[in-house]
Amino acid sequence: MKKSLFKKFIIGMFLITGIFAIATIFMNTKVHADGEHTHSNNPSLQYTAWTNPDSLPTTAGYYYLDNNVTISNTWEPEGGVCLCLNGYGIIKTGVGNVIKVNNNLTLIDCSNVEHKYEIDSQTGLARVNDTLGDDAPKFKGGYITGGNGVETGGGVYVGANAYIELSNITILGNSTTGNGGAIYYEKDAYHLQLLENISIIGNYAEKVAGGIYASSHTSNEENKDVEISLKSNTIVTKNTSKQSPAGIYVEDSLIFQRSGSNPINVYVYDNMVINGDKCSDEKKRGYMIGMPEWSAALGRDWGR
Ligand SMILES: [Zn+2]
Repeated sequence: MKKSLFKKFIIGMFLITGIFAIATIFMNTKVHADGEHTHSNNPSLQYTAWTNPDSLPTTAGYYYLDNNVTISNTWEPEGGVCLCLNGYGIIKTGVGNVIKVNNNLTLIDCSNVEHKYEIDSQTGLARVNDTLGDDAPKFKGGYITGGNGVETGGGVYVGANAYIELSNITILGNSTTGNGGAIYYEKDAYHLQLLENISIIGNYAEKVAGGIYASSHTSNEENKDVEISLKSNTIVTKNTSKQSPAGIYVEDSLIFQRSGSNPINVYVYDNMVINGDKCSDEKKRGYMIGMPEWSAALGRDWGR
């Protein structure tokens, strides 16, 4: 009798353990299921995991990267794509822009993942290298890299009427045979373009602006100019170009927006114009058209 009770007890324990095991598997599956990624500013909005390592989503929706993505073709998503890089990189191989925006696109990052980078001594381009020592320069969040061989916008090309919102990501190591190594805003791009907590590091332009180039608007209507709005903590550094300026060139205007109560810290420094094929000893800073105090006011709280 005692023996049979003990048997029942053992069988019961197995059953309970089994149920827990199944429950654990189920819960683990659930953790990795689509839609478990949310952002604090809108917790009810579920992001879908993007796990394909060699392509990116092209149809409207909210996505987050679950790994680095290496693409051989330029990414040209339809309108309405919102992608959280989640600390991962979008890496372009071969010739072409990394991203071409024809509609509207939002790229964000909610991770605190830190990456290290170095500058290639031959090309001047920045590249991610997480095996470097602790004293290597760093940036936080996901990144866009590898665009090259195109006339405009090695990293990101924004077309007419198109809009891109970028926050908490880094654009590094892209180049162009013309203008705008990291980002190029085409004539008649949407009139207000937003950058927040963005780093633009070590990009190159054969002509003007290794960092950001923004064209003007073809109409003279008010509020139609292509304006670049820089929010908190935007950094543009170590970009090079053959023609001045090396950091940011804006045909119309650059504006500063406070993000909540955060101070506006915009740093544009150590961008360099290359004379011929040689780097000049003098480091010229990228500057903002129509605002000569720009260089003097680098890195300070603009307070508006
Ligand atoms: Zn996220």
